[in-house]
Amino acid sequence: MDKILVIDDSPVQSEFLCSILKDDYEMTACHTAQEGLEAARRGSFSLILLDVVMPGMDGFMLLQELKSADLTKYVPVILITSLADVQYEERGLLLGAVDYVTKPFSPVIIKARVNTHIQLYHYQMQFKEQAMVDELTGVANRRRYEGESMARWREAIRFELPFSVCMFDIDKFKMYNDMFGHPAGDQVIAGVAKTASAFFQRSTDLFARYGGEEFVAVFVGSDAQPAYEFMKSVRQAVEDLHIPHDPSVSQWVTISAGGVTIVPKAEDKFDTYLKLADAMLYDAKRFGRNMVVWSNQNREQWRER
Ligand SMILES: [Mg+2]
Repeated sequence: MDKILVIDDSPVQSEFLCSILKDDYEMTACHTAQEGLEAARRGSFSLILLDVVMPGMDGFMLLQELKSADLTKYVPVILITSLADVQYEERGLLLGAVDYVTKPFSPVIIKARVNTHIQLYHYQMQFKEQAMVDELTGVANRRRYEGESMARWREAIRFELPFSVCMFDIDKFKMYNDMFGHPAGDQVIAGVAKTASAFFQRSTDLFARYGGEEFVAVFVGSDAQPAYEFMKSVRQAVEDLHIPHDPSVSQWVTISAGGVTIVPKAEDKFDTYLKLADAMLYDAKRFGRNMVVWSNQNREQWRER
């Protein structure tokens, strides 16, 4: 059941709105903007009904707060206005409200508008979801990686957690394509992605196709040594798929990986470490491929064999 948040300083009004909608939706009511803001950040609401005129922080200020935060900006907001404040409607819509309902309430109209906007919200979320997924492999795409990796990075800084970034790619992939053709190459990319993604199942893991036969993984909370060991298991799992390569190149399809684990500080730049991971990947290629090369905070390098 979709959840709706009602924010209205009048208990009578919010009670009435809840009674209109409670058969179809799970309703939560808050009576101050501050309370409403906290509830909106905590809960996963599909819609917010927001009273414009409230003491303290009013509906407009709250609307701005909601629209400026990633966590709440996609949740549709319907403004509640009285006939006397029609002049506010334009301002509300400009601030990002999707619609408004006018007091006194018509239950039929409220239900209809709420249903419509919740449906649109679901379409939008579905669309957003699809836009973030790589079509061939079903894992996160570059766009999602760009958006989320920075959020993970900031989280690691804030909570002083070890942060790992790893780049890896399929060895001698161009030669595989030359030998077996692009459709077979695509299948290999999808197979490697599927195998690797099974390893990145924690809610804080981010695993994405970076482009072509390149992948990137970001994970928070593992120290350098376990992160390195973890990526070795991923590399081994790909080798164990036993996908035949061009025999003049190697027996099986394999990957090379380069990564780094650090506990980032506020003054650190994510890009520095992404480049370092890329340099580790370059070393893995240089040292013979089918290999993980890892760096820790002190730029000590570990590699297989
Ligand atoms: Mg009011």
